Amino acid sequence: MLWLDTKYISLLSFRLRNFKRKGNDQWNFSCPFCGDSKTNKHKARGFIFERKGRLRYYCHNCNVPGVDVPKLVKHLDPMMYDEYVKEKLMADPIKREKTDVELFADKMKPPVFMKSSPLKHLKKISLFQPSSAVKVWIDGRRIPPESHYRLFFCKEFKRWVNDYCIPNKFDEDSLTRDEPRLVIPFLDEEGNLFGVQGRSFKKDAAVRYITIIMDDSKPKVFGLDKIDLKLPHIYVVEGPLDSLFLPNCVASCGSDLTTNLHRIVDDKSKFIVVYDNEPRNDEIVKKIEKAIAAGYSVCIWPDSMAEKDINDMVLAGYTPAKVVDIINENVYSGLKAKLRFSEWKKV
Ligand SMILES: [Zn+2]
Repeated sequence: MLWLDTKYISLLSFRLRNFKRKGNDQWNFSCPFCGDSKTNKHKARGFIFERKGRLRYYCHNCNVPGVDVPKLVKHLDPMMYDEYVKEKLMADPIKREKTDVELFADKMKPPVFMKSSPLKHLKKISLFQPSSAVKVWIDGRRIPPESHYRLFFCKEFKRWVNDYCIPNKFDEDSLTRDEPRLVIPFLDEEGNLFGVQGRSFKKDAAVRYITIIMDDSKPKVFGLDKIDLKLPHIYVVEGPLDSLFLPNCVASCGSDLTTNLHRIVDDKSKFIVVYDNEPRNDEIVKKIEKAIAAGYSVCIWPDSMAEKDINDMVLAGYTPAKVVDIINENVYSGLKAKLRFSEWKKV
């Protein structure tokens, strides 16, 4: 805090021999650490100067290391240093304890997107005609119709993010490569939007998913608004579209389970982690291993299962209910999980 340091330099000025302000953010005086010098009282080899937004101290005589303005204050006047610390704390709204009035004001604040959700500018998939290209795409993936209202269509995804989610998220150059995307909203327990994923409709898209997070304080998980914590189990899959096929299910969207799930409910036995059936995919294999080591129950797909993810299983003719049965019959934890995992993995 430049202004605070500057203020305390002024307060100290009368104690510093040969004190001179040399410029906006530069001061020179006799170094109080080495005496500068014992024989010649006109020497002044201590300097305070600004570097990268901070004030630093340097003495050309003793080269005393690691001194900044607070340390200088402490060296010269420990009582004044206490004042410095207090004042710094007061000036920093994060570290300072809030007053009752401020706490009350925080409570009364409307949730970030209550007033005008960015989603208001988009059309829900459930509202499209069956013959529309978007609906044909969704139906082609057999996404359960009862979940179509949770998904949205956006004609210019990057433009929409810039306009309604995060100003200037995408630069002009990036906007020239804008395209329509399926918008998958991340809503918290109260239904407030805190992030979105935009999925490309192209089969071989260079960037299949673009994830935008507006509020980092929420666990990066899709489906928080829909899960029932009172039910015995919460299924966890990776892809948000896959999660639409399972009951009481969230999608981790590639985020690290061990840092996210305990924030939903701090009880590992609640979760059944269902990764894709890709025993040759190094990344997936590592994630499953990590989930087992962290103490989660995991589904390890039977060797007879050829499809790699839940959506593919449904497309291959399994009903979602059948998929749930298969998952439930193949849940492992602890030592059994480790044994089954080592049979399953092919890397
Ligand atoms: Zn010195």
